[in-house]
Amino acid sequence: ATPTSIMVGTGRGAEMGVLFRKGEALQLLREAKVVALDKTGTLTEGRPALTDLELVDGFDRTTVLAKIAAVEAKSEHPIARAIVEAAEAEGLGLPAVAGFESVTGFGVKAEVDGSRIEVGADRYMTELGLDVGAFAGTATKLADEGKSPLYAAIDGKLAAIIAVSDPIKDTTQEAIAALHELGLKVAMITGDNRRTAHAIARRLGIDEVVAEVLPEGKVDAVRRLKQQHGRLAFVGDGINDAPALAEADVGIAIGTGTDVAIEAADVVLMSGSLKGVPNAIALSKATIRNIR
Ligand code: ADP
Ligand code: MG
Repeated sequence: ATPTSIMVGTGRGAEMGVLFRKGEALQLLREAKVVALDKTGTLTEGRPALTDLELVDGFDRTTVLAKIAAVEAKSEHPIARAIVEAAEAEGLGLPAVAGFESVTGFGVKAEVDGSRIEVGADRYMTELGLDVGAFAGTATKLADEGKSPLYAAIDGKLAAIIAVSDPIKDTTQEAIAALHELGLKVAMITGDNRRTAHAIARRLGIDEVVAEVLPEGKVDAVRRLKQQHGRLAFVGDGINDAPALAEADVGIAIGTGTDVAIEAADVVLMSGSLKGVPNAIALSKATIRNIR
């Protein structure tokens, strides 16, 4: 491509809210075979709400919710805000917390009022030696509804299953349909529950799901998808998406996301909408066509 055509293409991108940080990205995008998308904050709003809380017999709702919210008040995960907001909405005061720890990809723990609290994914409970089988039916139902099941343990005993639900952005469905029309495969990469991820993928017509990946695992997932399909664009918004954005042939950051993601990306979508992705690919194809 000539420098002029790249300049024109870059300018047209800017007009539609697609910022090309590297001219190379405009040339590479037309060759993309697969678009891999982060889930939380990319496909979804990244603003989950607490939807369900079911207790083990003998535990009381107010106490459990206050304790887990107190722990989550120390966490920066979007899930944490959902739980804290739910406790606030019920007018609960949050007890004091000591020894807070975030176990990346698993959950959080701390001491509250002299008891030990752990909140996180099923794999976190399994690692703690707790059997979540009592909630198997509930977890399946919640996940099939696209909600993320989480568990709380108090003093080494399973106390509750919780679910959070993160609304899908209203432009996501259309963006995925447009990518399919351009002949691309669409994949989702997420740390979330496998069943939840599949329920959401089914709803959106996503072709492939890589779920329950640890933050370091996103890069491996990108590598694997590249081997399978060819040139890959990865779209993400979070700090833990930065390595995957760098590993992709073209890294695309959501402009409303974290600075770390934006800095690691080749392309930035100025709005939160994913429609910028098919638009950028179409622009890449048009730009290169015009030069020939
Ligand atoms: P994701 O971007 O998919 O949320 P993370 O690696 O941040 O990936 O988290 C993976 C999983 O670990 C979450 O889906 C959740 O089950 C659990 N988790 C992480 N942080 C928290 C938290 N603050 N409270 C409860 N669970 C958490
Ligand atoms: Mg995200």
